[in-house]
Amino acid sequence: MRGIWERYRREEKGAVRKDRGGKLFVVLAFPDRYKVGMANLGLHLVYRLLNEQPDVVCERTFLPDPGEEEELRRTGRPLTTVESETPVYEADILAFSIPWEVNYLGVLRLLELSKIPLLPEERSEWHPVVIAGGFAVTMNPLPILPFLDFFCPGFAEGVVKGLTSWYNQVGDRGRRLSSPERKQRTTLRDKAIGAWFVEPGNRSHHRRNGRSKEWSNGGRRPPSLSWLPARTEVLTPYSEFGETFLLEIGRSCPWRCKFCATPSVYGRPLFASLDQILRSIDTAPFPVRRVGLVSPAPTDHPEIVDICKALLERGLKFTLASLRADSSTAELMRLIAEGGQRTITLAPEVGTLRLAEAIGKRGAFERVWDAVAYAEEAGIRAVRLYFMVGLPTETEEDVEAIGRMLKEMSRRHPRVKFTASVSAFVPKP
Ligand code: SF4
Repeated sequence: MRGIWERYRREEKGAVRKDRGGKLFVVLAFPDRYKVGMANLGLHLVYRLLNEQPDVVCERTFLPDPGEEEELRRTGRPLTTVESETPVYEADILAFSIPWEVNYLGVLRLLELSKIPLLPEERSEWHPVVIAGGFAVTMNPLPILPFLDFFCPGFAEGVVKGLTSWYNQVGDRGRRLSSPERKQRTTLRDKAIGAWFVEPGNRSHHRRNGRSKEWSNGGRRPPSLSWLPARTEVLTPYSEFGETFLLEIGRSCPWRCKFCATPSVYGRPLFASLDQILRSIDTAPFPVRRVGLVSPAPTDHPEIVDICKALLERGLKFTLASLRADSSTAELMRLIAEGGQRTITLAPEVGTLRLAEAIGKRGAFERVWDAVAYAEEAGIRAVRLYFMVGLPTETEEDVEAIGRMLKEMSRRHPRVKFTASVSAFVPKP
């Protein structure tokens, strides 16, 4: 089988190939390039949850690489799936996994390349039902809503398992939706599938035409990670993280930094247990050599030290995503260095204590010096620091203080190479 995905398909381990006969055919689409999408755990999670169901076949697609995209546009050939090079428009459901709002334009490009009309009212029974889920869609669905038939706010686990019965109901025994049926759904409430997992007392509002729509989970708690946590299901050297086995050790975050959407979107933090983590590695459909422990705040996992020790005992290399300075200890830093991590990332965010207090991140700001010292003692020689500018109440003095802080860090730790990343604060609705 040849096609635009052949190069990637050849190198993949763990991809699922199922016979489509009589099953619900879902194309899982990531609105960015293959290497970005394959580094996204949400995509892997939904891929597994769908393919675990005997009556569902799920295949993936992505935005093709620039040369191939140009070729598709020139020849008029439609975008296809990675697994079988089937045209995306043949799906019963086209499900987008959208982590960031910046991917919304990618959704439109992917629809266009798949020969699927952009607007629901222009789609007929011949076109897939177009749905979307993911962090961006949960946090801020309005910009993409006019292009979707439905959207799935909240955790994938709350929706994916019941997708076949939902599809059979909404399309009346599996029939695809007609144009008038799609057209009549216009509001958030009409288009939402499944429960909206928001902590009681932490309601999420969406405004449209000046009117406020309020959503809550009706008292339901978010699901626990009692099943296997999200992990790499298909290993490929072409992912942004290469052949690192990504493993979700926690979802959401116990901290409440005022600028951060994570705790508001996901509610209370959930942690995978050490047993679940080891089981996820043991049952992976390929040998695991290097593990990327993923969580918004991995150092706050109650068993993080035991997890690192267990991975070292198994002879595995591992890395942790961005570390929270005030929960990074000297022991943890030693374990991280032993696990093979050469660069750590810390996020003091700002250069002054006043602004750190204003954004609710005082502890992480004050303890960043200790964390860098622990890292240096452990033999880590590269530290990446994240900062933000444009925060409410920020003054010129606050911004200049970032430069002074970096100079002082370099002076105190001449053996460490510092890299600063400064991004603009983006207010969220
Ligand atoms: S620690 Fe990080 S993930 Fe947690 S609330 Fe603060 S910024 Fe967000």
